[in-house]
Amino acid sequence: MECLRVKLYTPTGIFKNPLSIKGIEVYPLPPYSTIIGLIYRAMGRKWKGEHFQISIQGDYQAIYRDYVWFRGDSLGEKEDKLPLQVPILYSFELLVHVKAENGLLEDVERALKEPKELLFLSGGEYPVKVQEVKRVKCLEKFVSEENSIKLNYNAYIQRGLLENIGTSDKGILFSLSYFYKNSQKPKTYSWIDAYYFQKGTEIYGSLMLDEDNNPVFLAEPTTKGLKKSEGEEYVRFYAGNWLMASACVGVLKVLENAEEDIEKYVEERFLTLPKELWQRLPELYAECLLKDAEHILRASYEKEKDKSKFNPYNVIILRSLGDFYENSPFTNPALRYITKLKGVSIEEINQVKNQVKSSFIEGYEYFLSKAVETSQTCFFCHERQAKNFVDATNFTPLFASIEKRRNLFWDLIPICKECEFLLYFASAGFCRSAGKYLFVYVPDDLLETYRLNLILSTEKEIEQEKLGRVWSVVRYVLDLEKQKSSWVLQNIYFVEIEKVGNNPANIYSFHISPNLAKAIRKLIDHYPKNLQDIFSKFLFYIYTGRSLYEFLFLLLSGFIKKDSYKNLQGGTIESKIVQAGRNMKYISQNLLFFINFQEVLNMNTQKDYTNWAFWAGRELKKLYKENESTQKKLEPLTYRLLEAIRRKDKEYFIHNLIRAYLEVEKEIPYLFKEALDDKNFSMIAYAFLIGLNSEEKGKEEQANNEGENSESA
Ligand SMILES: [Zn+2]
Repeated sequence: MECLRVKLYTPTGIFKNPLSIKGIEVYPLPPYSTIIGLIYRAMGRKWKGEHFQISIQGDYQAIYRDYVWFRGDSLGEKEDKLPLQVPILYSFELLVHVKAENGLLEDVERALKEPKELLFLSGGEYPVKVQEVKRVKCLEKFVSEENSIKLNYNAYIQRGLLENIGTSDKGILFSLSYFYKNSQKPKTYSWIDAYYFQKGTEIYGSLMLDEDNNPVFLAEPTTKGLKKSEGEEYVRFYAGNWLMASACVGVLKVLENAEEDIEKYVEERFLTLPKELWQRLPELYAECLLKDAEHILRASYEKEKDKSKFNPYNVIILRSLGDFYENSPFTNPALRYITKLKGVSIEEINQVKNQVKSSFIEGYEYFLSKAVETSQTCFFCHERQAKNFVDATNFTPLFASIEKRRNLFWDLIPICKECEFLLYFASAGFCRSAGKYLFVYVPDDLLETYRLNLILSTEKEIEQEKLGRVWSVVRYVLDLEKQKSSWVLQNIYFVEIEKVGNNPANIYSFHISPNLAKAIRKLIDHYPKNLQDIFSKFLFYIYTGRSLYEFLFLLLSGFIKKDSYKNLQGGTIESKIVQAGRNMKYISQNLLFFINFQEVLNMNTQKDYTNWAFWAGRELKKLYKENESTQKKLEPLTYRLLEAIRRKDKEYFIHNLIRAYLEVEKEIPYLFKEALDDKNFSMIAYAFLIGLNSEEKGKEEQANNEGENSESA
């Protein structure tokens, strides 16, 4: 069999989907539709429904989080640009295989060799360089597990292919757009599920290899879409992104409250509700929101000075839905069924509750009456006909109103009535904590997503702050991994929404990268137990991708320059770390934890130097202490080395080391000259400095070295 092999290069790439606004859920490789788009731009014509298959692999040198200005094309107001933080892939290389009938393949080949337009990959600032376009022979081959081959590139492997392919790693599931379902605007895509595997993953089984032994993973587009559930006795939802997943989790919480056995409604990423249950859902939602209403209503009634202004609907419904669904049928303060409850008396509490409930149901009926004619399929379920386009009322933190600001860099998102109503459950799916909303998302497992979010919301430990909650989820997953021997840690996302007044909300997300997952699994039990107080600061550093060397610098500065920080105040993260350093009575080998952790994140394999440098520091200290004249020079030496580290000045560091060894009439150990390169500088310098300032404390140190699980942090 023959394929067309294409190698592309772009200095920068950002690969997104319609929900990638604000930097969430970007892809590590372009989705299929991006490559198809590029091919047709090269051909200078539109896709006319031709069938072909694509395999996508790629590699990049680095990821940077950067701000990018996105421009809205039809913005009426002055705010025509928005800064969004997005991960950018630098120096991106792409290996694509295309299989098609010969005529089409010839067209593609010709077009890519001599494209009719400048080619860009989405989000890239520079044109794509086409490095190779070549016909290659591909053969199916069975590879045994013993002879498994390593992926040279990161790769997408479609879910179905994995029935015949074994992998050393579980991969991360993505829902990826493939062909358009229709060519007119707004576009709707067909979607396929594919797992993303990092390079280095070992694969075996039934493989297709090209003539240079590159594996080829041709994906079969599913143009027919999902099985229609119309006419069936069920309504089905697809939790294919974090937003719909949060809505499904909200529904599950509501059903749990109604004492339903929720597990029977969930399978993988689908939520399937019997029609009868679906029809009761508005009522069940209202009941769930009214669960602890009596206490809240009475308290709020007491507080209201002007009783004619008391509105129980606002107290119960608006309070829960207001932040997420501005001016929606359930929250718009101008709507009659909402305002008519103004001034009701609290005497008959059950009657008041019933009034709130029936107003909510009226809101639902009003919601149903609002529909737009479209010929589109719903973006969320991929199966029902869309009756609206997503706007600010559906999920205010993410979507701007259509009139004010068109969805910034994507076409309108079509949505069916069922999915639209479901989005109103997202606010129940998120967990609210100190003015912020938090959600955990496991892309391939809705039930697991539900469970993890329960952990997030029922966390009763003293540590109520966000990072503590997040850590409780990570710890739970770690335990789960030990039991099930599967690993999902790198497969979870956290989404945080921060509502600041009436301004558009900030949305943050973070993802446990495979390297971070590895470091946590391997090393977290060695976190120094004398630093439990700043465990959440440590979590902040690792979740936000800040260097632990910065963390260590603050800690050591606090310890070494105790006096200069004695008046330090303030509650910033940095000053708390410095204060923790000040509070340390002595330092010991257990601080090497931070270096080892960072080096796992850096994928540095030369970690042996850490211990060596630590002991070299300890040894030098001993020599200094032997003699009174050198003893008092230890402190100035420490200051100078710390300064060299701060400046990342390797020359100054070595210069001081040479002088220090001369002082005790020794030659600088050879390994310093050999190993102290740019890559290893921080590792060696910090380990040495820790050694130089560490104390031998016999058993006490031993106990600290062993460390302990950071249970209560
Ligand atoms: Zn839908």
